[in-house]
Amino acid sequence: MPSRKSKSRSAPRWSMYPALHNDILALLPGDITLPSFHPFDDSRTCTQQYDTNIMGRFICSNASCRSTGWSSKKIAITIRLYGDDEYNARVYHQRCKGCNALSRPELDESYAERVAYRIKKWSGVEMERPPYRDRGVSSGPHNSRLCEGCKDGHCREGGVGMFIMATGLSL
Ligand SMILES: [Zn+2]
Ligand SMILES: [Zn+2]
Repeated sequence: MPSRKSKSRSAPRWSMYPALHNDILALLPGDITLPSFHPFDDSRTCTQQYDTNIMGRFICSNASCRSTGWSSKKIAITIRLYGDDEYNARVYHQRCKGCNALSRPELDESYAERVAYRIKKWSGVEMERPPYRDRGVSSGPHNSRLCEGCKDGHCREGGVGMFIMATGLSL
């Protein structure tokens, strides 16, 4: 007798990318305290947090889906700072338009650039804004239904409420 099939394991809705830590360090100036990667994806103990978007590419995780994958300029990410000069970043997954399966992205260099920029900002380093921020705002509609960041309330593209939260504006 084959064992009863267990319920399909729910795919993760977000993940972290500690392997890209060195890419971030490479972008930080030598005169600030270089941070370590905080290994726990924990929103309660952080001292700062910031929602933004990065770019990357998804391949559908469903082997029977005919999707060839998709790229996104609006992958939601929450960057967090902790005590003891630690940081981490939660990257939200997206769903395949064809079959709704959750997929984890391959990130491009925008991940390290964005995170390094935020760490510098939190460290008080003065800089110009990165240029691709403006590009991202106008490039096409964002499908909130497929974005786990939107569902979790941490996507910059997810509507006015989130924008207000992220910028500290009040109505
Ligand atoms: Zn698919
Ligand atoms: Zn979103």
